[in-house]
This record gives sequence, C-alpha cells and structure tokens, in this order.
Amino acid sequence: MSILIYAESAEGKIKKVAFELASYAKKVAASMGTTVTAVTINNSDNSALAAYGVDKVLNVSNDKLNNFSAKAYADVIAQAAKKEGTQIVLVSSSTDSLYLAPLVAVALEAGYASNVVALPESTSPFQVKRTAFSNKAFNITEISTPVKVLGIAKNSFGLVENAAAMTEESFAPSLNDADFGIKVENVEKVTGKVTIADAEIVVSAGRGMKGPENWGMIEELASVLGAATACSKPVSDIGWRPHSEHVGQTGKPVASNLYIAVGISGAIQHIAGINSSKVKVVINTDPEAPFFKVADYGVVGDAFTVVPQLIEKLKAF
Ligand code: FAD
Repeated sequence: MSILIYAESAEGKIKKVAFELASYAKKVAASMGTTVTAVTINNSDNSALAAYGVDKVLNVSNDKLNNFSAKAYADVIAQAAKKEGTQIVLVSSSTDSLYLAPLVAVALEAGYASNVVALPESTSPFQVKRTAFSNKAFNITEISTPVKVLGIAKNSFGLVENAAAMTEESFAPSLNDADFGIKVENVEKVTGKVTIADAEIVVSAGRGMKGPENWGMIEELASVLGAATACSKPVSDIGWRPHSEHVGQTGKPVASNLYIAVGISGAIQHIAGINSSKVKVVINTDPEAPFFKVADYGVVGDAFTVVPQLIEKLKAF
C-alpha cells in the first residue's frame, strides 16, 4: 500500500517536479510507515529518483505512449496504483498532470485535491491545505475516500535528498483503443528555449515595452539568466508576442522561483496567474503601479535604461 507518484520525464530526463513529488511522498510515507513507488512512462534512465527516496520504479515502455494522451496516461497510473494497493497518488501541477489527475481519480473512485501546498494537516481524517481563488486564499480540504489523488503545486515543497535502495521493474498495463480517443498527430517542440512550465526564472514583459521591436533586451535578459520569456495578455492579443507566452488568470500559470515583470502594471488578472512565484521583481516607471504592492523587490525606472544596465551587471557577474 505504498504511496504512488507519477514521475514525469522529458527527453530522457526525469523532471524536477517528480523530485518534488518524491520528496513530498517520502515525508508522508515515513509518517504512515510505508514506501514510495514511482511510475514512469517511456523513460529508460530513472536512477535519479533514488536520491529522493523512491523505493521502487514501475517502468512502462510502450510506443503507443510516445505522445501524451490524458486518458491512456491516467489508465497507466490508475493500474499502477491498483497493482501497488496504493492509498495516495501524487501528481504534479504540470499542464499534462492537471489534465489527467481527475481521470485517475475517476478510475480509482478517489477524492481529488488540486493545488496542494503543504504536507497533510492530518492523515486521519485526511486533510490537506490548498490554495483557492487564484492563490488569494487557502483552504483545508478533507478527503474521505479510501484512495486519494493529490495534485501538488509546483515549488510548494522543497527538494529533500533521501537516498533509497531503489528497485525497478517493468510494468505493462493493458491499454485499449478507447484510451487513445484523442489522437495527437504532431507535437512541435521549441528547442533551445526554456519553457514557462519548467522555468526556474521567468522574464515577463508588458505594454510598457511599447512594441515588439523592443523585445530584444527581454530575450537577452532571459538568456543571461537561463530564463523563459513571458508576457501580459494584451501583448499577445495584439500579436507582439506568441500566445504561448501569455501568463495570468487566462494564460499559463507561473510558479517560478524568480519572476521579473518589466513594464507590466500588475492587474489582478495578471497577478492571479503568477502569484505562486517565490520572488517577484517589478521594473516600472509608475511608482503607483499595482505590481509594487505584491512585488518583493521593485525598481521605479524606465525599462529602456534599467534592463540594459541589469544585463550588463549580470554579464559581468
Ligand atoms: P498596461 O496596463 O498598459 O501597463 C503597462 C505598464 O507599463 C504600466 O504600469 C506603465 O507604468 C508601465 N510602463 C510604461 N512605460 C514603461 C517603461 N518605459 N518602463 C517601465 N515601465 C513602463 N492580463 C494578463 O496579463 N494575463 C491574463 O491572464 C489576463 N486575463 C484577463 C482576464 C479578464 C477577464 C480580463 C478582463 C482581463 C485580463 N487581463 C489579463 C488583462 C488585465 O486586466 C490588464 O489589462 C493587463 O494585464 C495589462 O497589461 P500590461 O500590464 O502589459 O499593460
């Protein structure tokens, strides 16, 4: 009855969110006297999971799963949970996991809590702390079903190294055509760029940049920091930047360690999507801009002066 985590991977590497899940799972497992099992899909080298306390890996290898399919992936995880007699299934808050988690919960007749930000408040009754109302409030949710599915918010639980003597076994769940009802024909990957979902640092810019021709300095700042680039909604609406960079309530959520907002006013809909970031920095000419109320650090200044100076300093660092 171990705790099961879905360990996501990309391009042959386990993602950092999986190590966060393993760290979380290990703590809960220790308090419940049980072990941690990870299920991985088409990833040959899972050895890195051992450092974070994973006791066993169930490795699924199936060409049909090369492209993400929420139903099929959810079935894999649910079958792994049944095989292990799992009571707690942990998934991350990645776009893929947000999509598949409710399907896993349905397959296991489990209660599901998303946006979990802390270790369980109590395991009997089972209660977890979650964010609500676009990260403006917390609530305590009680799950009373025997099996529980938890979506752990990114960056809410730090990595804890805890080496385990991990074993690995192949697992071949039974999948049928209905699992692939939605077929992904083609996946286009942006190579050489950090994606917003995986980024530790995000450099984001808004209408204060005046036009798309001025984004060179934003991209350069992002490149120096190894960051992803993002933008406010109007910037992508008017076509200065691609829609894939739009962050906020109606765009992508950001939970990076550092979020730098350049020429962004800090409207409530923007903040709602980036509020989970650990450290927020704003560069804005208007000291009354609402962003300053939520920022950890702020520079009242012109982006066209401040950003080049910042790049110069960082390069000299
Ligand atoms: P502006 O509000 O025009 O702000 C530009 C800022 O740049 C100003 O604060 C200005 O002082 C500053 N500035 C100007 N020149 C400079 C300079 N040279 N150097 C430095 N600073 C400068 N918005 C989102 O971003 N994401 C969302 O998901 C989102 N969802 C929405 C959903 C709904 C239902 C609605 C109604 C709105 C939504 N919005 C969203 C829009 C949101 O309300 C704001 O209109 C938007 O965030 C403003 O974008 P901005 O800060 O880039 O532009």
